Amino acid sequence: MCSAIKGRFKMDDGHRFFSGSFREAQQRLQAAAARMGVVARQFIHPLLGLDGEPLGTDVYLIGNPAARKVLAIESGTHGVEGYAGSAIQLALVDEILPHLKSPDIAVMIVHAVNPYGFSWRRRGDEQNIDVNRNFVDFADSNATRNELFEHLAPHLVPEQWGDEEVRGGDLALEGLRQTHGSDAVSRAMRRGQYSHPGSVFFGGRGPSWSRLTVETIADEYLATAADVLLLDVHTGLGSYGKLQLLSIEPASSPISGDLRRVFGPRLRSTSDPASGAANASGNIFAGYTRCLAQGRFLGIALEFGTVDQQRIQHALRADAWAYLSDDDKRKVFRERSRREMLEVFCPTDPVWRDLVVKDGVEQFRKALTWMESR
Ligand SMILES: [Zn+2]
Repeated sequence: MCSAIKGRFKMDDGHRFFSGSFREAQQRLQAAAARMGVVARQFIHPLLGLDGEPLGTDVYLIGNPAARKVLAIESGTHGVEGYAGSAIQLALVDEILPHLKSPDIAVMIVHAVNPYGFSWRRRGDEQNIDVNRNFVDFADSNATRNELFEHLAPHLVPEQWGDEEVRGGDLALEGLRQTHGSDAVSRAMRRGQYSHPGSVFFGGRGPSWSRLTVETIADEYLATAADVLLLDVHTGLGSYGKLQLLSIEPASSPISGDLRRVFGPRLRSTSDPASGAANASGNIFAGYTRCLAQGRFLGIALEFGTVDQQRIQHALRADAWAYLSDDDKRKVFRERSRREMLEVFCPTDPVWRDLVVKDGVEQFRKALTWMESR
């Protein structure tokens, strides 16, 4: 039993917390927070969403605002992955956080870090930027160099998106795996690239709207905190319905041992090659770490597995192709692409959705107990 939250909660029907659109997700969370007397601070995005709705990132602070310990949970760093993170956040605000009893901890909820991708069912933002690769130092050419990606790029997003072209691309990529090694190719894809704005895992050419918003949130809400733990919810890595926890702490550090005792063997360090995580200097945790030089910061990604990697890669490549330019063929294709992106990053299967909410809430409760004990 989590000491910071009293009571028993049944989370076997967590799929009810999932929403069908950005607007619905945003409004349900706002309404649940309002029942607790909490109002969102809104960071308005300059563009509109798929249904013509205004977009933005909402920040909620629950508990003692002067607390020196902050437990934060973020959704939608990768746009379309935000449906899962938003469902966990809604479950927390609806059922768990009204019972928060710890005076020493503030809970910060950041809803939709990349609201554009959330609404438009894209992993990237309005500039096709992968926000979790955008926190690099753009003046440092070592951070943005990715030579192997130059060889992959022509085969990832072909001129035409047809069965033949995709098969040809797959074969060429397989050849590159044979030449350079599967791990090296996978790393080159996932670490981010800064030279092909229309392709997959594009880290941008400067700070994105989401990065600037995150930096403002860090400055305004966390600058005086002594101890911050941030849970960033993702989907699309690992086995179906299974959760991996990826910590930015090196596996050998004392705190990693502590974390493994709290979260169990599913917790891995992002520096562990077996984690499958990108070793990205430009990830959002690196951004927070720089902003919060005064206090202790720890980031853990919650990665919920969905479908197999090949289907995910195809969906990402098709999505990139659909937005490369504005010709009619691509515009028509976008609707199909959006459906596939939603399905591969947020399966409609209620069993998967139940697991996500149950596991997400459970990890949050463990994190809360651990923060209390520190
Ligand atoms: Zn992600």
